[in-house]
Formats: sequence, structure tokens, C-alpha cells
Amino acid sequence: MKIEILNTGSELLLGRTLNTHGQWIGRELFELGLRVDRLVTVPDGEAIADGIREAVARCDVLLVTGGLGPTSDDITREAASAVLGIELIEDEAALRSLEAFFEKREREMAPENRRQAQVPVGADVLPNPNGTAPGIYIPPRLNGAANCAVFLLPGPPRELHPMFEAEVVPRLRSLGGIEEPGRILELKFTGIGESELHREIDAALEAIPGLEVGYCARPSEVDLRLIGSAEAVEAGRRLALGRLGDRCFSDAGESMEEVVVRGMRARGLKLALAESCTGGLIASRITDVPGASAVLTLGFVTYANEAKVSLLGVSEADLVAHGAVSEPVALQMAEGAIRASGADVAAAVTGIAGPDGGSAEKPVGTVFIAVATRGGSTRVERQLHLRSRTGFKQAVSQAALEMVRRVAQNSVL
Ligand code: AMP
Ligand code: MG
Repeated sequence: MKIEILNTGSELLLGRTLNTHGQWIGRELFELGLRVDRLVTVPDGEAIADGIREAVARCDVLLVTGGLGPTSDDITREAASAVLGIELIEDEAALRSLEAFFEKREREMAPENRRQAQVPVGADVLPNPNGTAPGIYIPPRLNGAANCAVFLLPGPPRELHPMFEAEVVPRLRSLGGIEEPGRILELKFTGIGESELHREIDAALEAIPGLEVGYCARPSEVDLRLIGSAEAVEAGRRLALGRLGDRCFSDAGESMEEVVVRGMRARGLKLALAESCTGGLIASRITDVPGASAVLTLGFVTYANEAKVSLLGVSEADLVAHGAVSEPVALQMAEGAIRASGADVAAAVTGIAGPDGGSAEKPVGTVFIAVATRGGSTRVERQLHLRSRTGFKQAVSQAALEMVRRVAQNSVL
């Protein structure tokens, strides 16, 4: 079944509204075992009719979103009716439910809203309990106009999503052509670049029959996407983990912070943080995860030297001798956080986010990351992340969480 999505709305092309429908519908259809063949976005106006005309000649199912409102730029209904050659008539039931919508809210219905009860002859009206614009379903070959099933759906996500589940999914099922959903698996890697990952495993993965392989570079991580039968995906997973398992922090699509919280929780380990250049970002990421309270005890944001000294017990002499961005300071921050919290593991970061403040010896982007364990040793890494200020913070938080993950997973340094 060839499926296309036509997103309408000038705001989508002017960059005023993020087109979330393509993403949301794509995911929903994948769960049903269906794939979107093409996603097209057009502005309001003439382009809508052109978009429908081109799509119905190509595909089996067309999902049009937006342009069902009462204003003069909402012309999806009219465009579909003109292209498919099916006349619009006022639908009694649609008009009643529009009137009921306004009555329930004790609001007067504007004359413009009446246009929203117009439906191509023979089409289904798709009820919209969350808004005024009903959806419309034009079955294939209605009036001999096109061999394609056409859905006209409302723009607002809170109206589109329930209508899709209640009205579109059952109709797609009855059109047939739905296969067993394929399996999709995302393996997440960090500390390795996209090209290196590709070089290490691509040829071997491509040799697995029926496996579709994709890569997606994200901030401080690369995702490897495997799609196919359960056997093909499992074979791909085993191969990737066998070759690069130590770089893979999740084979279940989890974020780094989710993996850290889950891993530490399972082992009953507590975490403390001492952050300088990340300004609390590591704590923020950890607390994004439900259940973080079972793991995180406290987080310091010690930006000034005095705070590093008074709260974490960092040596003033070392601050003077080595500077705040240095190995001994990172180490003492982590060990100070363990002392102050009684946590099992503490991570500390101190670095130069830029744009100023670098030197020949310690350029902008330099960071020292320390991870200490209670009663154990402390490991410090020096890294360089040449990014924007916010990109630097993100990369440092990822690297620190990765070090915590390794400690929590192996319970050794
Ligand atoms: P419309 O039905 O075209 O008048 O759209 C109504 C509202 O839904 C507007 O606020 C749009 O910005 C929003 N909207 C329309 N299409 C999309 C889309 N593809 N993704 C996210 N929001 C949308
Ligand atoms: Mg619109």
C-alpha cells in the first residue's frame, strides 16, 4: 500500500510551526506495519489542489492535514472536491454536531463555521470531538474519480491524533494491505563517530538478508537503526554488540540518562554531582527520568572557586597552582561530593565552555571529568569538545554520564 502525506499550511513553510504531523503519523503507521512513501508540505492556496492532484495519481492512500478551518485560507475541502470532481453538499449530521459543539460551550456559531459542514457527496464524515472541523474520508473510486483513498484531517495535533486512532486506523485496516509490523531497533553509541561506526560494521550488517540499516548522528551520539524481521534484527543486534558493544550504551532506544538511572537503581547505587561548566545540566538530565529520586542524592553547581573550596573542600593551593580547570580540582570536586553526600558514585566536571577564557595549554573546549566511588579510586579524564557553549555543555554532560554508566555497570573503575 503506497501512502503519502500532504501537510498543508503556510505556517509550516514559513518556519512558524514545526511540522509534527509527518513524524507522528509516520510512527503510527510503522506500528501498523505500514510505511510512508512520501511526505509533501504545501502552503495554503492553489498548491493544495496541485498537491492532491499529483498525489492521487501516484498512491493508494493520501492523508491530507490542515486547511479544514472556517477561515478563507482553509480550502482543503474545496480543493479535494475540485480535483476529484465530487460536488460538496451540506451534511445534516455534520451541521448538527457543529451546532452542538458551540452550544455546549455556550458560544454563538459564526456563519463562517457553516462551511465546515460541507462534504463531498458520498464521503464519510469523521467526527471531531475536540474541535469544529470534522474530518472527511473519500473512499477509492468514489464517483470514479481516483483510485486512491483520501483522508482530509484537521491541523491541530490534539484534534488530529484522536481522529487518526478512532477513524483512520480502522479504515486503513479494512482497505487491506496491512502486513505484520516489522521490528525496529535503535542501538545508541557514544564516543564513536558516524563514519567510524559505519566503517566498523556496515558491510557485515548489509550481508544479513532482509535487514534494513540506517544511521542517525545526534549530539554526542550515533544511532544505528535496524529494521526487518525479528530474526534479522536480532542477528544485526548481536553483530553490532559483538564488534562495538563497549561503545553501545543502549540497545533498546533509551537515552543516556535513562540508562544511568535504570542501571544505578538496579544495583542500589546512589549518585552525587559536582558541576561547574555544565551549570546543573547533568542533574537536570538525570531528573528528567522518572524514578531519579531513587538514585540522585544531591548536585552541587560550584561555579566560583570559593564555592569549590567551601562546599567541596577543594584545596586553595591546588586552585592557585593548577587553575580551576585541572585534574586535581576535578578529582577533589568528585571526592568532595562523595564526602558531602555519602553517595556511592560522584561525577564532577570543570571546563572552559568559551568563547573566551582559553589558553595555549588549555584551549576553549577543554574539560576535566572525574568520577569517584565511595571507598574506591577516582578516575579523571581530560577531553576536548570544540562546540558552541551549549553544545559544549551537552557534550560534557554526555561524557560524564557515560563515565558514570561504565562505573555503575561494572561497579569498578
Ligand atoms: P489548520 O487546520 O490548517 O487551520 O491548522 C490549525 C492549527 O494546526 C494551526 O495552529 C497549525 O499551525 C496547526 N498545524 C497544522 N498543520 C500542522 C502540522 N503539520 N504540524 C503541526 N501543527 C500543525
Ligand atoms: Mg491552516
